[in-house]
Amino acid sequence: MKYDYLIVGAGLFGAVFAREAREKGRNCLVVERRNHIAGNVYCEEIHGIQVHRYGAHIFHTSDKKIWDYVCRLAEFNNYVNSPIARYKGEVYNLPFNMNTFSRMWGISTPREARDIIAAQIADLRIAEPKNLEEQALSLVGRDVYEKLIRGYTEKQWGRDCRDLPAFIIRRLPLRFTYDNNYFNDRYQGIPIGGYTRLVEKLLEGTEVRLNVDYLEHREELDALADRIIYTGMIDQFYDYSLGVLQYRSVRFETEELEMENFQGNAVVNYTEREVPYTRIIEHKHFEFGKQPTTIISREYSSEWHRGDEPYYPVNDERNNALYEQYRAKAEADEKVIFGGRLGGYKYYDMDKVIAAALELCGALL
Ligand code: UDP
Repeated sequence: MKYDYLIVGAGLFGAVFAREAREKGRNCLVVERRNHIAGNVYCEEIHGIQVHRYGAHIFHTSDKKIWDYVCRLAEFNNYVNSPIARYKGEVYNLPFNMNTFSRMWGISTPREARDIIAAQIADLRIAEPKNLEEQALSLVGRDVYEKLIRGYTEKQWGRDCRDLPAFIIRRLPLRFTYDNNYFNDRYQGIPIGGYTRLVEKLLEGTEVRLNVDYLEHREELDALADRIIYTGMIDQFYDYSLGVLQYRSVRFETEELEMENFQGNAVVNYTEREVPYTRIIEHKHFEFGKQPTTIISREYSSEWHRGDEPYYPVNDERNNALYEQYRAKAEADEKVIFGGRLGGYKYYDMDKVIAAALELCGALL
């Protein structure tokens, strides 16, 4: 065998594995279907602006080990994510905090906010939330749910909130301080110069072949290495033999505008159902850019069909059960190990992807 490991996919998981393997003296080959590295964290520089081509990525973690790891690869800026939500002309701060409540109800103290929310929750009489709608209602009450959650969630997941699992909403905390920081994590920022450069650093010294679709050249590629690290879709790897897992896909409508500042914030969510996109990203604000023009991306969420780019696993009961079957199959398969958002069928954040890759390296290398 020419290589110890064949790594399929040049995203974060594959690249972290490649770096650790190289440092341990293993020989790896990375193959990537696209014409560039970095997976969905890929950034493309356009007129001095780092454009997040596959959706906005904000690095955040509370794991000091992971933070130190990425800081050795790139310098991070001090961007703090504070998205804005627009609902029928009204503008609210996210996550739900005192700024949000004050705008919604004209109040100013945590006591007033808690009283209003508690009264709305009591009216609903939900004992044990059975789905996302009930979970959301019992956490935030009717007003916040109707204006800031329902439309956005139904657009993003293409499903009625009553048919969605409750866990999705745990990402949106409720806060009784005037703090617009979306994340609760200790460390946060964007790598200066973009994520592509960070992944380039990880892949330094590793052979990477772009424009190579593993599934089209399976036999020849398998013959090159003892083991495969596979970061694509696990169901596709097994030719959907046990069934098709569901994903959500995203379409980006990106344009450059002849103005310096379009929306005054990197992320603006459109929470009403009538607006067809979920959010608009203005990329320069991730880096405090002062360029004369600006680049924005409208994000449209859609159901994934074969051939589309998968973005989000739909981790409901049916899919998770099917994934477990694939995982059992994978465990019996000595040749291949799965990782990353698609290989693990998990709604992973970047820090969790890196941690999982490092964990695998610890066990394997
Ligand atoms: N969400 C919402 N309103 C918002 C933003 C998010 O209801 O304005 C909910 C929605 O259910 C979504 C989840 O929170 O699926 C997670 O959204 P987030 O933007 O954090 O996820 P990302 O797409 O950035 O991974």
